[in-house]
Amino acid sequence: MTVIRNILLETGYTWHDSGQVSTDTSLFTITSENDLIIAITPQEGMVAATQDEQDGRGLLAIPPTAEYHVHLDKGHFGGPWEAVVPVAGGTQGRIAEEQGFLEEYLEYLPDRAAALMEYMGSFGTTFMRIQVNVDPVIGLQNYEIVNEVLHAHASRMSGELVAFPQHGTLATESQGLLTQALEAGAPILGALDPASIDGDIEASLTTTFNLASSFDREIDIHLHDGGETGIYTIQRIIDYTCDYEMRGRVAISHAFALGQTDDQTVASLAAGLAEQDIPIFTTQPLWHAASMGARAVPWRILADAGVRVQVTTDTINDHWSPFGSGDLLKHASRTAEIWWQVDEISLATTYQMVSNGVLPLSSSGEMLWPMIGDEATMILTDASCLSEAVARVPKERTMIIRGQMDSAPLARRPLNSSGKIRAMRLPV
Ligand SMILES: [Zn+2]
Repeated sequence: MTVIRNILLETGYTWHDSGQVSTDTSLFTITSENDLIIAITPQEGMVAATQDEQDGRGLLAIPPTAEYHVHLDKGHFGGPWEAVVPVAGGTQGRIAEEQGFLEEYLEYLPDRAAALMEYMGSFGTTFMRIQVNVDPVIGLQNYEIVNEVLHAHASRMSGELVAFPQHGTLATESQGLLTQALEAGAPILGALDPASIDGDIEASLTTTFNLASSFDREIDIHLHDGGETGIYTIQRIIDYTCDYEMRGRVAISHAFALGQTDDQTVASLAAGLAEQDIPIFTTQPLWHAASMGARAVPWRILADAGVRVQVTTDTINDHWSPFGSGDLLKHASRTAEIWWQVDEISLATTYQMVSNGVLPLSSSGEMLWPMIGDEATMILTDASCLSEAVARVPKERTMIIRGQMDSAPLARRPLNSSGKIRAMRLPV
């Protein structure tokens, strides 16, 4: 049994006559056993923790973050700094670029995947859906290596791997590699751009859905294709999900086309996505507005229709993009800023897009988290309430993982320029 004193929890909202809303909080002691919370006891102010107890120092507890789309298997992070090399040809150009370095990169992969996993964990992420290349250049090697890294970090990170055919579903499966990845146990089958990469929407989706349904696995389709093609592909994914009776087992990543069309089209697709329980995993990219005249995926229309939207990282300093903070709280903050979610409740509810839907309070102020029986895993941060944390993105992140205060927090820095030192542990 572990006892943690002095944890600040949100207890409700107060609506003032001025129109302002404030978040109510109070100090609690949280007791856990076998990883789960068994008691949440109110305190009268701060109390001294005994030697056998842990001290939350009055910090605010917020739910851990969950990452639903990240690549750990071809980045520069964890090695020497490298910016992006300009290449022509969009996604196809980047694919040709990586075909040239994937084999050479295998040597660095274990350390760099671990560095990224630890870096993101240091900000409060405890779950990752990890995209791993399965392709004709490296076969299943990235899958096998990243799987080992994930297992080695099981004490602080849970996750699931997506066998992702970055070089195309049809090209990859023509060598039987996706079948091999599923035989090796990959829980999710990836796919990308059935039109522009595979050149045949129906053949691509048929291959993906046949494979996934025969192995009883989930699907995650990366859809960069925009405009009419992207909209049509989303509709076909909804149709296939229905036809193959895979409701709740198919996801679409990026779905850039939803940011390039009118609200009415988004709303009509949203109804189909909600009906088939297809979530959208979006990075809420800033560069779309500047360079494509488009907007980020309008998540509010989707969410209002009942579609689950998760804001994700995708890449951190790799050959596609030099950006990416690894901090999902910061990503929630950016999303709130893009869509001008500035009042107390809107700021706080934006956080559900990085916490797998978990929020401390409902919009009407009812306490939702943490509850007795929940896993005793949380982020302690230096804020008076979640809306302040989303707006100000405090640096402080002390992790409680399955009832244990993290005694050796991970330092937030990548490898040094020799490329040999992994994310360092701070002196205790
Ligand atoms: Zn991706």
